[in-house]
Amino acid sequence: MTAQATSADVDAVRRKIETLGFRAHIIPGAQRTAIGITGNPGAIDPAEFQDLNGVAEAIRVSKPYKLVSREVKKENTVVSIRGVPVGGAAVAFCGGPCSVESREQILESARAVKGAGGQLLRGGAYKPRTSPYAFQGLGEAGLKMLADARQETGLGIVTEALDVENFDLVEEYADCIQIGARNMQNFSLLRRAGRARKPVLLKRGISATLEEFLMAAEYILSGGNYQVILCERGVRTFADHSRNTLDLSVVPAVQRLSHLPIVVDPSHGTGRRDQVHPMALAAVAAGAAGLLVEMHPSPDNALSDGYQSLYPQQFAEVVRDCSAIAQVIARKQPLV
Ligand code: PEP
Ligand code: MN
Repeated sequence: MTAQATSADVDAVRRKIETLGFRAHIIPGAQRTAIGITGNPGAIDPAEFQDLNGVAEAIRVSKPYKLVSREVKKENTVVSIRGVPVGGAAVAFCGGPCSVESREQILESARAVKGAGGQLLRGGAYKPRTSPYAFQGLGEAGLKMLADARQETGLGIVTEALDVENFDLVEEYADCIQIGARNMQNFSLLRRAGRARKPVLLKRGISATLEEFLMAAEYILSGGNYQVILCERGVRTFADHSRNTLDLSVVPAVQRLSHLPIVVDPSHGTGRRDQVHPMALAAVAAGAAGLLVEMHPSPDNALSDGYQSLYPQQFAEVVRDCSAIAQVIARKQPLV
């Protein structure tokens, strides 16, 4: 739609789409509203829409993913997590432990994130663990501790929904629902996330191509949830100097093809504490919308991912140095 299009114009286009028996996706933007059409069995003639009031252009999307593509929406999408914009001018910093372990641990983490200048708190209450004997998370008790940490610090909460079964509960407490790498192609979970009314952070699968990643996001948007943040967290390669290989070239590749914001997780991306700070800098330099970083008040005693978790002081250094990088590349970043 044009920047001048009224809500009545948008509504008229929506009604026309629905009259044809298709689904209309109204995706708002800062300047212009984009309207996607799904459910059409074949091609629709753009001329059907071209002359309606307020329509700037009607185009056929050539990509297999539709709603996530830049063809449908040219402007960057900015996803707001409890008022914190992700995908705008400033880099968003999310820090916290891999797992919520206790009330004290998550409160201490939250204070450290806030003190460092971070805006969002991460921490899993339901953990996808390689071994069934490893710590699986505190469940609802962990979600309550996260809510307490939010209450005290005002930080928005990012936490994982592991399956459809616990999704409702996670949605109730979270400000942003994480879908983990191992679940990137869990299609029933993606469909459930499409019905959520909270933002979703979708992590790239361990061996997912860019197209598979974007198609997974398409599941969520096609369900009517347009608040999706993509997250690069490393892919599996032959390299053994790191746990995964952080694929930073996916950042500009996503930005070319999609309007969705992409953030980077250098913690799982490298799996080694000493590599997190340099790769965080590189991620911001490459244009990441934000960072997801594991930080623990006492990493050596962590119940999961301690070897890649930063000490609070190191997290503060990441925020400070990445803010400086953001300034250099002309992002509107306050210096921390
Ligand atoms: C996590 O964020 O702690 C996590 C398990 O991430 P991933 O799904 O990327 O492995
Ligand atoms: Mn982890």
